[in-house]
Order: sequence, then structure tokens, then C-alpha cells
Amino acid sequence: MPRLLFIFLMVLSPMALGSTVSIMGVRTWADSEHTRVVFDLTGPADHNLFTLIEPHRVVVDLKNASVAPQLVNGAEVQGLVQRIRAGVHDRNDLRVVLDLAGEARAKSFIVKPSGNHGYRLVVDLQGAARQAAAPVKTLPAVRRDLVIAIDAGHGGADPGAIGPRGTYEKDVVLGVAKKLAQLIEKEPGMRPLMIRDRDVYIPLRNRKEKARQHKADMFISLHADAVARGGAQGASVYTLSERGASTESARLLAERENSADLVGGVSLNDKDDLVASVLLDLSRAATVESSLQLADAILRRLGGVGKLHKPRVEQAGFVVLKSLDVPSVLVELAFISNPTEERRLQNDAHQWRLARAILAGVRDYRDQYLPQPRYAVGGGREYTVKPGDTLVGIARRYEVSLDSLRNANGLNSDLLPVGRTLLIP
Ligand SMILES: [Zn+2]
Repeated sequence: MPRLLFIFLMVLSPMALGSTVSIMGVRTWADSEHTRVVFDLTGPADHNLFTLIEPHRVVVDLKNASVAPQLVNGAEVQGLVQRIRAGVHDRNDLRVVLDLAGEARAKSFIVKPSGNHGYRLVVDLQGAARQAAAPVKTLPAVRRDLVIAIDAGHGGADPGAIGPRGTYEKDVVLGVAKKLAQLIEKEPGMRPLMIRDRDVYIPLRNRKEKARQHKADMFISLHADAVARGGAQGASVYTLSERGASTESARLLAERENSADLVGGVSLNDKDDLVASVLLDLSRAATVESSLQLADAILRRLGGVGKLHKPRVEQAGFVVLKSLDVPSVLVELAFISNPTEERRLQNDAHQWRLARAILAGVRDYRDQYLPQPRYAVGGGREYTVKPGDTLVGIARRYEVSLDSLRNANGLNSDLLPVGRTLLIP
């Protein structure tokens, strides 16, 4: 039907020529240090971000873009963002202004469509000079979010194991890693740290270094297992052993996972590693113990969503887990060499199940072994007000009503003194 086709072309052509992108929605999240604003877009957009001071603002200019003003101007905000405004700029462009509660570092990026979401513009804000401004801490315990390092194995030139249908380990583990990060992002008292968030090669030692730099509290390395004959199946969880592998298959696996670094051009056999393993500090004994506890918690939860390869946590000499002084585990999600498991590993719903199981394991571990006062942000009942916090934001984060929060703290107004400790009902 040529006529119908013609009409389609007429309708589509303005988009094809790169004209208007619309903002369809605005969402904001905040934790104690970061605020993230996500704009849902109808398509990809060229954008430019800059910051202004006195008062502090972030300005985002979107080329050939538009929005219904009430959608942005009425958006609920929290964290560092006090208000969002939008208006036409240079005739065809859109200027979005975020009014901030204080100084912040800002970065932005476009996220391509995935799952139920289309194109998104993400603006991440991190409060600056917080430490100088914060009042002297009177509470003895340090309260902060648990940082969970998520290490998607392999990447870039190193595909990891390859399934019979050609599935790459590096891709499926990244899929699970991203989902796990999304879940942790929403988990009160926890924050994800993605060691690798795209298809890129990162040497094993740099992975550990990144976790250390960001003060990760746990390190979870994700992999998919493979054997020459396709029959083996099920998930396994490993921890590091300095004294040698608990079984021969664990030793072979460690050799295979460790060989990743040879692909990236870095030899493992240099002196640093040897020296490091000889000079391990005494805190390692405690770390080995807590790694086993974390591994066990994750293994139990994985057993709830699929088969287990071995009913017990195994140990082997994984380089990526070496010299980390926080609980560190390596999860083999399944056997990518097994055609049935390869298919499941690729399945989005199954990836979510795996991610949820790992999070549940992390939660179990935290609840059972971590001293609660230190990690009171999520499970505990107190919160210290930070610059940029709003009562609404705090109420939402803890899923309590505004009134109950006001009553519990005898607050007559919504003014929040920075540094005040609130009871969370
Ligand atoms: Zn691997």
C-alpha cells in the first residue's frame, strides 16, 4: 500500500531529521552523599551541562528538546536538589535548571533504552566540601552506607568462557552485575560500586584497587563456569585461599579465571604478587572468616533460585580476591558450558532472580554478622541530617510517613538543622 507508506514517511520525517526530543518524566533519588536526577526522554539528545554558583545551580541545555513545563516544575525532588525549572532556550532548545541546596560536583550522561525504560538523561550530583562543613561528630559510631563492590568478570578483549551457542561470560555477568547494582541502589543502607560497568578490560589488580579506593565494605566478583564436557551444572561460591585450593577442580577454576590478566597483557607472575602474598597482614585471618560467612549466605540464597554445583563454599587462589581486606567472594553463577544453563544465563528474568538472590545473601550476612550500630543507616533507627536533606526525602528513604517522623522527633516545622540526629520510627 504505497499511499499508507507515504503517510508514514510524512509523520516520521521530522524525527528522522533530528528535531524535537521530549522529556516524559523526572525522577530523583538521594542518599547521604549523592543525588541522582533522571529525565526520561523520547529519544537520544545532545546535551550540555554546567554549574553556576551564588546560588548553586546545575544547568542542562538539551538541543531540539521540549517539555510540558508543569511536568518539570512540579517534579518532586530530594537530596541536594531543591527545585527543578525548565524553559525554552535559543528558540528550539530546552534549558533545565536544578536549584541546589549547596555546592556539588555534577556529571551527566545519556543511558540507552533497556527493559521498560527508553532513553534517559542522568544527572549525578555529589555534595562537595562536605567534611569541612559538617559539624563535629558526637556519635561514637561511624554511620554510613555499606559499599558493595560488584565485579563483573572479564570484559573487553577477554570474553571469559564461551557457551555452546556462542554466549560470552563477560556479557551475562555484566547483565547480572547491572541488575544487582540497581537493586542495591534501592536498598536502604547500601550503595553499589560497579568495578566494570561496560564491555571493557580491567586488569585484576586494578579491580581490587578500585574497591579499596572507594572504601568498599564487600567485594563480589561475578563469573560463569565452564568445563570441557557440557554436563556440569549449578552455581558455586568461592573464597580466597592462601594455602591452596580446597579441591582440584577449584584449583583448575582459579587458574582459568586468573589467566584473564594474560589476555590484557599483564603477567600475574611478577614479584609484587608474591611479595604481597608473603606480607599479608594479620587482619587477613578475620577477612578469610568473614568471606566464608558472606559466601555461605550467598550460596544458600542461590540455592533457592537454581541448582548448586557444590553444597559448600570452596576455596582457591583467586587473584581478584587477593589482598582485599574486606569480605570478598567469587560467584560462579552457573555453567555457561551447559546448554540449558547458557540459555538461562541469557534470560533477563533469570538474571534478575540471580541478582535478587545475591542481594538477599548480602542482607543475610549483614543482619547476622555486622555490628548494627555502625550500619544503622538501613536497619537502624537513627539518621543524622546532612546538608541538602529534606524531611520528605528522609521519610521516603525510610518508607515512613512524614507525620510519624515529625512526631518521633518533636518537629513543628520542616526546618532541619544539619547534624541533628533523627529517630526513625
Ligand atoms: Zn570468569
